[in-house]
Amino acid sequence: MQLTRHNSKVKTIDCSHYINGEFVQSKSGETFENINPATKAVLGTVQIGGKEEVDLAVKAARKALKGEWGSMPLKKRSQIIRKIGDLILERLDELAHLESLDTGKPIWLAKKVDIDRAANNFHFFADYMTTTTNESYQQDDIAIHYSVRKPVGVVGLINPWNLPLLLLTWKLAPALAGGNTVVMKPSEVTPMTATVLVEICKEAGVPDGVINLVHGLGETGAAITSHEDVDAIAFTGETTTGTAIMKAAAPTLKKLSFELGGKNPNIIFADADLDDVIETTLKSSFINQGEVCLCGSRIYVQRQIYDEFLDRFVDAAKKLKVGDPFDPETKVGAMVSEEHYNKVVSYINIAKEEGGNFLLGGKTLFEDKGFYIEPTIITGLGTDSRCVREEIFGPVVTVLPFDTEEEVLEQVNDTHYGLSASVWTTDVKRAARFSAQIEAGMVWVNTWFLRDLRTPFGGMKHSGIGREGGTHSIDFYTELTNVTLKL
Ligand code: NAD
Repeated sequence: MQLTRHNSKVKTIDCSHYINGEFVQSKSGETFENINPATKAVLGTVQIGGKEEVDLAVKAARKALKGEWGSMPLKKRSQIIRKIGDLILERLDELAHLESLDTGKPIWLAKKVDIDRAANNFHFFADYMTTTTNESYQQDDIAIHYSVRKPVGVVGLINPWNLPLLLLTWKLAPALAGGNTVVMKPSEVTPMTATVLVEICKEAGVPDGVINLVHGLGETGAAITSHEDVDAIAFTGETTTGTAIMKAAAPTLKKLSFELGGKNPNIIFADADLDDVIETTLKSSFINQGEVCLCGSRIYVQRQIYDEFLDRFVDAAKKLKVGDPFDPETKVGAMVSEEHYNKVVSYINIAKEEGGNFLLGGKTLFEDKGFYIEPTIITGLGTDSRCVREEIFGPVVTVLPFDTEEEVLEQVNDTHYGLSASVWTTDVKRAARFSAQIEAGMVWVNTWFLRDLRTPFGGMKHSGIGREGGTHSIDFYTELTNVTLKL
């Protein structure tokens, strides 16, 4: 197979911190190179923030909580948040290019999902914040009790690399809606769109100090999570990082929101509509190179349709074009980094050692150009196999047959993870009965990744703490004071 290159016309950027409304460099002078995973070319340099930069950012955020931002009428704050969404859409092409260069994902996907939905996050919360209601109770003729919402304060937003701008804005928009100020740290692997975002926020009218950005590695994130003057941390990333953050945040009792890893089941009953199943399972397995926390990488198929499913699924997956993210035909781009590519390859090797039967893939591509892995479908692994149990976060799925509802439910729930699941059946009663028993924060019936931003998003068990979306986000990013007025 040949890799044909389609040129990206957008200039790449060096990534500086943004503190108190100014782009600044690290006092230490430390930087690292940002690598394009699709070509291995250097995209630019990224500043590494230390404790000093984090401290300056927290001080700026603390100061900005008062003053113009603190006293801004709700209507004006909502207009600014809406304007951020508008400006993201105006720069959609540029942002999608940068996201694609940073992540290796297809440009069409970056446009359609990452950037469009990032804008939507601001538009949604700009409206939602103006309709939020507070509780009030009349206690006979004795008293009226009512609650008042206030910002939590300075919030640290720490983000991963798979949907960089989408997930960052999923936290930033409600944080601003709640009146907070923030210190953000994007993933070191994908720093570019966050750097453009702060410029957009300034243009939209966000006062200096409200939004601060510090680039860097895990240590930079740790400087935020252990800072005594940060009130809350909203984190999306690996479960093990969540554990470290919880420990770091404990001495200062920060409020925490965690969206962590997953190993999500995709359960296909024999009565399902197989056309729909194949079309959606292709996406839930391989979209974004399988680098979506919600990907259904554990596929369970009822035995009556197991062979037919495999024939059709393998056939359809064979047609997915792997290659240049700027080629409009590409469905699977490059893995995000060399480190992650090596991790996924190591799981493919584990599956081979465990006796897996590779119906498709299992190989790397264009090794001299970038970090590409073929869509990989594995059968023949036991329920104890590491590839069935551990999060691979790549274009690798395992398929297992099952006979009964009870049997598959046990396998589905036999995991520390509990993020999401998909269930395929045309039997409504079974859909309701089975979904309610799955230990996951989100269950899709006859679909996958269908979102309404008002619904609770998040995981149980080791997949997260708390929920985001609609009122759940507003609850996290605000504190309630109950006032009792004696009559
Ligand atoms: P990661 O945990 O390695 O890194 C996430 C962020 O945390 C990065 O910005 C990183 O620099 C920072 N970080 C690392 N160590 C830190 C520390 N000790 N203290 C503070 N910050 C620290 O995760 P990743 O590899 O970037 O992302 C992939 C993971 O994210 C997968 O496990 C995936 O399932 C998960 N994820 C979950 C969701 C969800 O909604 N549940 C969404 C997307 C991704």
